[in-house]
Amino acid sequence: MQRDAVVVGGGVVGAACALALADAGLQVALVEAGQPARWSREQPDLRVFAFAPDNAALLDSLGVWRDILATRAQPYREMRVWDAAGGGELHFDADTLARRELGWIIEHGLLAERLWAAASRAGVGHFQPASVNGLEQRDDGVRLTLEIGEAIDARIAVAADGANSTLRSLAGIGAPTHDYGQRGVVAYVDTELPHRLTAWQRFLPSGPLAFLPVDDVRRSSIVWSLPEDEAARILALDDEDFGIELTNAFGARLGKVRPASRRVAFPLRRQLAKTQVEGRVLVLGDAAHVVHPLAGQGVNLGLRDVAALRDSVREAKRLGRDFDAPHRLQRWARARRSDNVASTFAFETINRVYSNDALMPTMLRGHALGIANALVPLRNALWRHAAGS
Ligand SMILES: Cc1cc2nc3c(=O)[nH]c(=O)nc-3n(C[C@H](O)[C@H](O)[C@H](O)COP(=O)(O)OP(=O)(O)OC[C@H]3O[C@@H](n4cnc5c(N)ncnc54)[C@H](O)[C@@H]3O)c2cc1C
Repeated sequence: MQRDAVVVGGGVVGAACALALADAGLQVALVEAGQPARWSREQPDLRVFAFAPDNAALLDSLGVWRDILATRAQPYREMRVWDAAGGGELHFDADTLARRELGWIIEHGLLAERLWAAASRAGVGHFQPASVNGLEQRDDGVRLTLEIGEAIDARIAVAADGANSTLRSLAGIGAPTHDYGQRGVVAYVDTELPHRLTAWQRFLPSGPLAFLPVDDVRRSSIVWSLPEDEAARILALDDEDFGIELTNAFGARLGKVRPASRRVAFPLRRQLAKTQVEGRVLVLGDAAHVVHPLAGQGVNLGLRDVAALRDSVREAKRLGRDFDAPHRLQRWARARRSDNVASTFAFETINRVYSNDALMPTMLRGHALGIANALVPLRNALWRHAAGS
């Protein structure tokens, strides 16, 4: 049987893609190498996302957002960004932007689990655990072979299998990588002072340190970007010393910080696939772009790939045209790559300028934040870009 689409990789982006394509009327299969995502209220996932409003709208249109909101999604109403070296502060506030909230902090595991369940309900066929190990491209479709010995025929294949994507490699798409030589340390912490539903980001010479609120009062999730050796040292500290170092690194902005979970670290790199389409293979999510976590945009960019693909399929159906016409796939890929490249280098430039203790950048950057904050149209434009509106 030939399906319309086969999605490889059932992380948040792949599961959302399978669901979105089924929602657009396609017959879809989803292939995932690991076990089904499981989320538990008692054991929070250390990987959390700052979820943007446009992606909340995407999940709402797919029928999963209300469930996620009702289960555990922490709204944040303000964002404050400042430089350890001094100067001004960039401040976004839901009230002045006429919003109820700026976004939500949500656990990766919760999103993945609910998207998987919705994809099953929408009739997406699952192959799991199963890894792809072969690709044949034809004029009218693709054949994927799985390590478990099965083959799947489809009109298009979607690579959503993460940064080390097998399907991207099988399609012959290069993805040059730049290692930042840094790791992101993540953990939950409690702070002496309430976080006031604010996402905080302090730039230090070693890299940005973010506190993201995950309850109504004092608990936050941190993402601390550090050089490799520093990250290893921080991971090895006992809880008391970790709390002291974190309090200092954050300039005690929320008083004393106390660890509330174990810590893990993930490598930080920039990776951009040279193209997001090759023949009938489309590439999205981390398989197409890995970005610095400083703006919390990794998963948001991936879900924007998904939303644009669904729009393209819907438009083709409305016009009675083939959803998989090469020019249509190319158009989607060009538009998404241009947005992803611009975002990737914007985050990298911010990180370079702010994670730097040379004299000129230090003198300029704090003022730049203050100026950006004072220029209301510029501040609002920055926010609209981050929110995907
Ligand atoms: C600890 C941590 C913290 C992070 N924090 C943030 C943050 O604060 N904000 C943010 O925006 N981003 C963050 N990120 C990045 C974010 O996790 C990614 O951008 C996002 O998860 C990408 O989703 P994805 O679905 O594209 O890829 P992934 O989540 O990598 O999912 C890929 C899926 O493909 C499967 N797979 C792999 N190979 C195969 C194969 N051959 N066949 C079949 N299946 C396969 C994998 O099992 C996996 O389920 C963080 C990452 C980590 C590791």
